[in-house]
Amino acid sequence: MSASAIERALGTVIDPELRLPLTELNMIDLTDGLVTVKLTVAGCPAAQKIEADVRAAVAEFGVDVAMTVMSQAERNELKEKLRAGKPPRTNPFDKDTLTRVYLVGSGKGGVGKSSVTTNLAVALAEAGHRVGLIDADIFGFSIPGQLGITEKPTRVDELILPPVAQAGKWGVKVISIGMFLDDNKPVAWRGPMLHRAVEQFLCDVFWGDLDFLLVDLPPGTGDIAISLGQLLPTAKSIVVTTPQVAAAEVAERSGSVGLQTGQSVFGVIENMSWLEQPDGSKFEIFGHGGGLAVAERLSALSGQAVPQLGQIPISVALREGSDAGLPVVQNHPDDPAAKAIREIAVKISQDKIGLAGRLLRVSL
Ligand code: ADP
Repeated sequence: MSASAIERALGTVIDPELRLPLTELNMIDLTDGLVTVKLTVAGCPAAQKIEADVRAAVAEFGVDVAMTVMSQAERNELKEKLRAGKPPRTNPFDKDTLTRVYLVGSGKGGVGKSSVTTNLAVALAEAGHRVGLIDADIFGFSIPGQLGITEKPTRVDELILPPVAQAGKWGVKVISIGMFLDDNKPVAWRGPMLHRAVEQFLCDVFWGDLDFLLVDLPPGTGDIAISLGQLLPTAKSIVVTTPQVAAAEVAERSGSVGLQTGQSVFGVIENMSWLEQPDGSKFEIFGHGGGLAVAERLSALSGQAVPQLGQIPISVALREGSDAGLPVVQNHPDDPAAKAIREIAVKISQDKIGLAGRLLRVSL
């Protein structure tokens, strides 16, 4: 039995929350044929999975596995490593971030904003990107349920490890205001509390290096959109609307808040565009043209072309999937709504990070 073969096998075991190999996290000690796994905190919810994965990885070597918990000094070392040299409590999504950040908003509730955001996040993750998702919809936090996440974040001292939904290689790291509330109590928070909560989501959660961060905003044009504009200076907004032209004006207002705080609008998504009939025809239950109307108005307001990114049909599979915690893009990838969402995800993945006002690192 060679120690390096065991080490190599252990190097394949990934921490389910941190999404890094246990060996890189100093969570493994290999001495005299005994593998000791050091969990970050006692009662770590991922403990069983970690133990099972380690046992499976070293099964062929016949070594023993013991579980223990890191000392405070070891935990401090780990936190230091995860911060990659940055001081504690810094916002990783400031103006120099390489993460592409999108704020998904809508004029009113019930247009499918959360379902669309969830499925976009999963589609991006399945395309190989590292994705984070913040559910800042204080009034209707539904994203954990839509992803089938029931666990709460793990705390390593002040560091919050987000639950990860299975999707693609990296999964989707999710944090929701609902994960920090007892029961399902209604939230009557005022602006400053929301601001602090969101700031904590950005600064105290271990996101790692993300390619994309999607933020599900509460409907309307509230304080939180403005706070987020300050905390996420590179963010672009995406507006979700239904085809009703009457709703377009409300949706337009949600996009124009972003413009006031200097964000550009990446595009408009029209959801619930039609119901496909058995004969293939499209029954436009909620009318026609809302998405394009919002895109045109936001183009005029911003002086820049704001495209309609796509139209998502009404889909029973999408609705059932949202209720069951099984996103339609994963569970029914051939459903027309899943296809429409994947096409929008491709447009997002092809978007370039805005370089205006950023310092370019040029090596001479
Ligand atoms: P919002 O975040 O805008 O309040 P949700 O994403 O919670 O909206 O969606 C509201 C309801 O509509 C949910 O039950 C969801 O499953 C359903 N829904 C959303 N989009 C569609 C669609 N394209 N087809 C069918 N049902 C949808």
